[in-house]
Amino acid sequence: MKRLSFSFLAIAILSFIIVHSCSSEEDDTIAPNEVQTPEPEPPAPTQYSLTVTSGEGGTVSTEGGVYDEGTEVTITATPSEGYRFTGWEGNDSTSESLTITLNSNQTFQALFELILPFQFEYNLHSSLDDFAFYKDSISSVFLRLSEMMPIETYYDGNNEINGVAVYSWLAGGSKPYVSIIGDTDQCICGVINNKLVMSLQLQEGDFNEGANFKYALLAHEFFHVYQIYLSKGFDQGVFWLIEGQAATVESLYLKEFINDSGYIMNFLNKNYTSFDEGIQNVESYESYNGFNSVIGQYGDITIFMNLSLAKILQEQGNSEKESFKIIFEDYWKTDPNDSNWKIKFEEVFGISTSDFYQRLNEFKTNPENLVPEISLSEIFEKE
Ligand SMILES: [Zn+2]
Repeated sequence: MKRLSFSFLAIAILSFIIVHSCSSEEDDTIAPNEVQTPEPEPPAPTQYSLTVTSGEGGTVSTEGGVYDEGTEVTITATPSEGYRFTGWEGNDSTSESLTITLNSNQTFQALFELILPFQFEYNLHSSLDDFAFYKDSISSVFLRLSEMMPIETYYDGNNEINGVAVYSWLAGGSKPYVSIIGDTDQCICGVINNKLVMSLQLQEGDFNEGANFKYALLAHEFFHVYQIYLSKGFDQGVFWLIEGQAATVESLYLKEFINDSGYIMNFLNKNYTSFDEGIQNVESYESYNGFNSVIGQYGDITIFMNLSLAKILQEQGNSEKESFKIIFEDYWKTDPNDSNWKIKFEEVFGISTSDFYQRLNEFKTNPENLVPEISLSEIFEKE
């Protein structure tokens, strides 16, 4: 027993020396038994290849390579000028950035397509021939607005929309385009042959001296096209947002280009509009259902609402230009729909709709103070 103990101790001491001597030359972490009986080296990790290419019209951030199993690689597609990214062959994602975990050999191709110019096509009826100056001005007004608010072809979920088919005529006789566009007056009314239909019905009275509505109408309907483009087709029908903004744009257009700065007061005049009652019934401005009777009772407070929103955004620290860009562009880019628009509203504007509706009371006494100082061109001027 004693002898055994001694031997054990001797072995222990010997081991210590071996360990100690090993430690001085090699890694501390190697245990003595491993030194004595080394195990075979662990197998090299499995590797997979990633192959990334780009179709015509763009580039990718990497061509890929060979990676250890489980490696995450992010690849990004960038369209060339005049092209847009449409998706990936090899993956269902529609995001330009894709993060891949290599668990097999994988191949991706970024796909791009040529952006076709968004075109306005004109069907201007001979009933407008007495007002040739106006007929001619329609395309130049839309050209001017297109420079401020560039529109590209887009996919609305059902159709590729590559332009607007404009139909305009003088009311009086039977509607000349009814067999093509239906019984319409003034609207963006559906899609025919991949173009939005814009219906511009005018009245004799629109051509009286000083009657500027005929130009306001062009800016108004153009802005609807812009809203629809930014949201890739309207999925929501919030009356006060859609129409109040278009009315704001038409007012700013007349002020800047037709020298009619008083036009906006048609919408902000307390003699015409019952702001108190309008605010008390503000939710009836959320839908197109019965909006005519709502406006008949309380007046059109939709501009007032959008201009109040612009003031609130300025209180939050945004410039006047930024505030209108948030209203006219950022909100629509969220592609709001009828079920989520209040959530999108709060995300974009930093205030809930109910709080916003309450705050309208702060602006109702002097709605004329809401008239923007900034011009339409300045709002959309590129930085
Ligand atoms: Zn409208």
